Amino acid sequence: MDIKKLTIRDVQDGYAKKAFSPDELQAEFAALIAKENPFLNAYLSVFDPSTLYPIPYTLYPVLAGVPCAIKDNILIEGTITTAGSKILEDYRASYDATVIQKLKKAGAVFLGKTNLDEFAMGASTENSAYGVTHNPHDHHRVAGGSSGGSAAAVTAGLTVYALGSDTGGSIRQPASFCGVVGLNPTYGRVSRYGLIAMASGLDQIGPITKNVYDSALVLNEIAGHDPRDSSSSPIPVPDYTAKLGQSIEGLRVGVPKEFFMEGLDPQVEARIREAIMKLEQLGAKIGEVSLPYSTDYAIATYYIIVPSEVSANMARYDGIRYGHVSKDASNLFEVYAKSRAEGLGSEVKRRIMVGTYALSAGYYDAYYLKAQKVRTLISQDYNRAFKDFDVLVGPTAPTTAFKIGEQSDDPLKMYLADIYTAGIKLAGLPAISIPCGTIKSDTNTDLPVGLQIIGNKFDEATILQVAHAFETN
Ligand code: GLN
Repeated sequence: MDIKKLTIRDVQDGYAKKAFSPDELQAEFAALIAKENPFLNAYLSVFDPSTLYPIPYTLYPVLAGVPCAIKDNILIEGTITTAGSKILEDYRASYDATVIQKLKKAGAVFLGKTNLDEFAMGASTENSAYGVTHNPHDHHRVAGGSSGGSAAAVTAGLTVYALGSDTGGSIRQPASFCGVVGLNPTYGRVSRYGLIAMASGLDQIGPITKNVYDSALVLNEIAGHDPRDSSSSPIPVPDYTAKLGQSIEGLRVGVPKEFFMEGLDPQVEARIREAIMKLEQLGAKIGEVSLPYSTDYAIATYYIIVPSEVSANMARYDGIRYGHVSKDASNLFEVYAKSRAEGLGSEVKRRIMVGTYALSAGYYDAYYLKAQKVRTLISQDYNRAFKDFDVLVGPTAPTTAFKIGEQSDDPLKMYLADIYTAGIKLAGLPAISIPCGTIKSDTNTDLPVGLQIIGNKFDEATILQVAHAFETN
């Protein structure tokens, strides 16, 4: 048995046939992680298998005894949660996030916590205070970000599945760079309680898996209303596996023409065009659609709204309530200033400054308020598109995984990695990235390309149906 390739269903089958026991599986994963994580740096912390929770796998058949990895900005009671930041180096979570409570009830086994850009701000995991995560396909390249650790762990087979979080692309873009399946649910579909906030109006937790079926299985377990997250939706959770295997004959698939303009790598474009042809062969009705605001203005709007929310959310890291405290502060002001100066990295500081500026009196109308208005125009773009189409498809990212260090000193270039993913978040929509072929790199490695399938609000089921049809045909 190659445990690296195990999907959730394989694990269920293995238990049913008594091919292995939960304890054996855990021990094998622990050994594999010990061997391969030092190169990849996908996990920031690994739990000792002997301390793992007892597995009630006869009670709940779905995820019971199935090992998973959790992005290190999601709280698991009693364990260190760094959010990739030095400021939370010693922070131990005092409660479980709602998704963790749900997974515990479902019998999940947590292998460890995965690397991320500091507080999920970034697109390459290079902003982690604990070192970059390497792409399993090419160790000189990034795994994407901010959920780079989760995507790399799934790709390298160091877990069966993982949870990530997506604010502007952080599940989908690393999934695309690593060649796995990453689902960003509709804003409000999954509780954010216990997710360390970056931009609360956009953050969403979702699964990173080896295939589409697993993505649906995990979403089934983590979705749903939570009274502790006022933005979570009371809309009932369907069975997300129900439409898997159904034909996509006659389904209307829109292709946003602005997704194929300047900045898109021609080889990525070729893979995406082939993918669209395949959907057509499967019976989908393909048509062109225009999203004028969402491509031209998504990045500018996102990088006003997100830093504004960031500047408010980061205020709590003051050297008193959480984490790092400066040792050479001589008064209260210095405790705040020095603890933050020492504990936070440069991208986080940049966003605090930009956000504070955008929200300050005299600039609020010109920046934050204006950005909120453009956000409405972006939503309207998508509302119009979904009158004519069931899903929209295009690239997840403009390029394949870039080299470590290649973009890290050019924030603007890094921000452009979110060009196809950020606008969707401003509109609150769900979207998935699935692998659709590879491109040869200059060093002759095969780098994955991700196809993004965008759905209407709360219509994850149709996205998964299309993704499954693409994956299995
Ligand atoms: N790259 C984007 C950013 O830096 C997205 C991050 C995310 O989704 N957490 O904001």
